[in-house]
Amino acid sequence: MSDQQQDFSKHESLFRMNMDFAFPYESTSVWLQEMDISPFDLPYIQQVLLESFEDWSEMTESLSIRRNSHWAVVNHEGTWVAGDEAIHTQLEETYFELVQRCITSETSVYEGLSTLADNIEHAGRFCAVPIFSRSQHTMLAIFISILQPDQSGDTFQDAMEATTLHYRSCLYRRFEYIFVSDVMKVQKNAERESSRRSILFQIMQRMHDQIDVDTVLTEVLDSISVLYPTITLQLFMSQDHQSNNPRVKPLLFHPWGEDVSVRAFMDGKLIIQDYSAKDGLDNGVEIAIPLGGKQGVYGVFHLLLSKELREDLDLQLITMMVDTAGNAFENAKLYEQSNILIHELRLINELTQRLNQSLQLADIYQLANQELLNIFKADYCCILQYNEDRDGLEVVSSNVLSISKDVFDIDYGFGGLVYGKKEPIILSDYHLSAKVSSKLMEVTESQSLIATPLIVNGKIMGAILLTNCSPHFFSYDNYRLLQTLASHIGLSISNALLHAELGRMANRDMLTDLYARHYLDEKIQEYQGTDFCGSLIVVDIDQFKQVNDTYGHQKGDKILKKVSEIVKTSIRQLDTPARWGGEELAVYLPQLGLHQAMKVAEVIRTRVATETNPCVTVSSGIAEWNWMDEKVSVDSLFYRADMALYRAKNSGRNQIQMEDRNDRGSA
Ligand code: GH3
Ligand code: MG
Ligand code: MG
Repeated sequence: MSDQQQDFSKHESLFRMNMDFAFPYESTSVWLQEMDISPFDLPYIQQVLLESFEDWSEMTESLSIRRNSHWAVVNHEGTWVAGDEAIHTQLEETYFELVQRCITSETSVYEGLSTLADNIEHAGRFCAVPIFSRSQHTMLAIFISILQPDQSGDTFQDAMEATTLHYRSCLYRRFEYIFVSDVMKVQKNAERESSRRSILFQIMQRMHDQIDVDTVLTEVLDSISVLYPTITLQLFMSQDHQSNNPRVKPLLFHPWGEDVSVRAFMDGKLIIQDYSAKDGLDNGVEIAIPLGGKQGVYGVFHLLLSKELREDLDLQLITMMVDTAGNAFENAKLYEQSNILIHELRLINELTQRLNQSLQLADIYQLANQELLNIFKADYCCILQYNEDRDGLEVVSSNVLSISKDVFDIDYGFGGLVYGKKEPIILSDYHLSAKVSSKLMEVTESQSLIATPLIVNGKIMGAILLTNCSPHFFSYDNYRLLQTLASHIGLSISNALLHAELGRMANRDMLTDLYARHYLDEKIQEYQGTDFCGSLIVVDIDQFKQVNDTYGHQKGDKILKKVSEIVKTSIRQLDTPARWGGEELAVYLPQLGLHQAMKVAEVIRTRVATETNPCVTVSSGIAEWNWMDEKVSVDSLFYRADMALYRAKNSGRNQIQMEDRNDRGSA
């Protein structure tokens, strides 16, 4: 098939398709033939009348009748439309009546010019022939000729009628053009729409297959570039979105100037702006399309193009692509966020599981330290705890050896800042922005930091600091996650503290806060396993029954507490004071012999006698053991001390007795 034939068949099929759809005619020609101009069209056919006259004029150029006579067309009301200018004024003035006659009678008017004002050199003939629509119902215009005498032979009327019919054919051809070009336009739009849909469909399919945020953005950038290679295209993202695509850049909010992208972002609306001389383009158009989803606007597509391309640009298609990208981006972002969340939950779960394996505070600090270093890929970690005795922040766990035993002032460094403000901090570059001096940062040459307060049971008790030697190392997500993890570490610490308190309570006597007897037993046994010797003092308040009877039980309790206090403060840190039962107390003194223990017992005795009010006295019995004893046992030691006490009581009370040989014999 030749190109022409191909062209023809394409058009034929095009026509048939549209005609079949729109009109129930058998063939295109019938449909076109039956198309007609109605009275309603009359106000609009001026242009068609004019163009048809030009067509007719061109076609008849070579004919003598055309060249030697004057021709014109007036509309159905007699107003000049087109024709030879030589007769323009005459038609409106001299021949006005004749034209009107033709209009009112709706028949052809022929007049010999000799009967008219003879300002035309040679007598000729005035001819006005009405042009009717195909249906013959509507008069469309009047075709007029001033025929020269030599043209006005016998058959001039036929020639005039025929010429008019020729003009009418030209008129209808023009009229049909309009319809055909309309049909063509419809076809072109349909083709455009279909290609747009197919592009959009492909893009949507590809985008929804993507769950990676960056790929979605690259996909839409590439698609627009393929469609319009000459456009300078960029994407400005508002969030700290990391992209490998060089066309994706951060959206900068300049406080000055009117940036189209910023405006489009703020208003969430497309902005088109003309500009002159920009980026190598003399003048053109700048278009900013916001990239948004259901939950917000994330960025702006920025297009720079020439004015010529603007005409051709299918902006609606691009907007639809960007909208699709916005939704896909949002989906991908949500997916990404849910993945991060799942990851964080897993970390929390693993961390708490590990932390809960131990109830020892020191273990928990140590473990938290290691885990945090792993999770955040931090270089250094430091956990600080408030030390009441020293009123400072003590390093309880750190992989920085040079600070591992330090106690810092309560307002020193980042630990002090976090502890004082009870708020977390994130620092991207210590050297650039440090208003706070920090030994941790200096010693480790760290540049990035995230830190969070350590809160246990709603009370601030310290801080956790993580650092890295590179600047801008920690992300906002890291900063957030550390806070979450810190609260879980706080819970584990709280458990460990509770556990320690429970242990302390189980070993203590409530009234006197001395150790319970079972604890003393265990301790002595422990010491007897490792030491060479030790002594036990048993202290009993004299005539305590009487004290109770005289002052009441409550007062008795107070005295018992006071005596316990005296015992506690008269012995060494490593001695173990206990309530042995009732108003009898006992102290085990590791590595001390009878005589050294005697001195301690004496201190207790004299202090009780002077410091209690009402005044009471105590009697004590002392026994010792050493590695050479035949029998080393807790029971034996107690028995002998008790025997000595018994003797002290019997010897008049307010005194101390050491065990003697008789006591040993019975034990
Ligand atoms: P002695 O000098 O021989 O030790 O005389 P005593 O009265 O201290 O000895 P006894 O063993 O007869 O009585 C001990 C008294 O201590 C009996 C009891 O009322 C009193 N007692 C024991 N435990 C407590 C206590 O927890 N609180 C008070 N207020 N009294 C107690
Ligand atoms: Mg007593
Ligand atoms: Mg007693």
